[in-house]
Amino acid sequence: MRGFDAIDAVGVVGAGTMGSGIAQVATQSGYDVVLRDVEEHLVEQGLNTLSSGLDRFVDKEAISADEAETMRERVTGTTELGDLADADLVIEAVVEDVDVKQSVFADLDDVTEEDVVLATNTSTLSITTIASATDRPDRVVGLHFMNPVPVMNGVEVVVGEKTDPAVTDLAHEFAEALGKETWQADDKPGFVTNRILMPWINEGVRAYDEGVAAKADIDRGMELGTNVPMGPLELADHIGLDVCLHASETLHEELGDRYQPAYLLKRKVEAGDLGKKTGRGFHEYD
Ligand code: NAD
Repeated sequence: MRGFDAIDAVGVVGAGTMGSGIAQVATQSGYDVVLRDVEEHLVEQGLNTLSSGLDRFVDKEAISADEAETMRERVTGTTELGDLADADLVIEAVVEDVDVKQSVFADLDDVTEEDVVLATNTSTLSITTIASATDRPDRVVGLHFMNPVPVMNGVEVVVGEKTDPAVTDLAHEFAEALGKETWQADDKPGFVTNRILMPWINEGVRAYDEGVAAKADIDRGMELGTNVPMGPLELADHIGLDVCLHASETLHEELGDRYQPAYLLKRKVEAGDLGKKTGRGFHEYD
């Protein structure tokens, strides 16, 4: 296995919300990054998000404009899978679909050196299932970053059935090198975070739907009452209602009825009210 000290170049597959954030923190930590998506405009979009993310650090005077420029120069955008051939570690952040992820991992298995660790940012899917698409399941691990990646401090390291303990250690070390703190979970549906978070969000939605309180009071009640920064409805808007529904459906499928998604969550997604990203979810956004 290629060890932590040998990691210079990081491949990131998927240049969406999470991929662009992961690429940003990787270049901020001094790594060369290759950021891949399937179409040129998606790569551009990801690079723009990354660039604006760096600008915010310049605005906050956390880094200088020159440093931000050097960080931008360390990132190469591409649509070519072959450009990941020299990566020392690859992190996958494509859509949450097991077939797509397995096909990406089969491709990565072909294109990268065989001692390279392949990590997935999946929120709820099985690491073991994803790893089974490769000839190196012992070198596949979950590196579950939180959204927004440049702001959130934690990374959940998820250990698949066949993950080598040295690979688990590398995952912790790498996340810490990005300035994150880690915790570890077994490859059980939803791991620690989403297994506990999704029922909390769905219960918030049900409480609203069943008239327990106004939506602002549900959020405020949970913020003030349990000392969390955001209540369930606001957090769902922030994550994306489609993402929440998808995660809930996976948990429901794997763990049974207690994970049933809330009725209103489904209706909102069908109506296209996906939260902050569409300007409207449970709350309205500019
Ligand atoms: P997103 O839709 O913003 O981005 C996904 C990107 O993957 C898209 O740009 C898409 O074009 C690209 N893609 C699809 N197939 C590809 C392929 N074969 N090769 C390269 N790129 C491909 O999604 P996201 O919110 O960034 O989520 C990505 C992953 O991270 C998912 O597994 C999700 O569950 C997980 N995650 C999301 C969040 C969140 O809050 N959004 C938090 C933690 C983990």
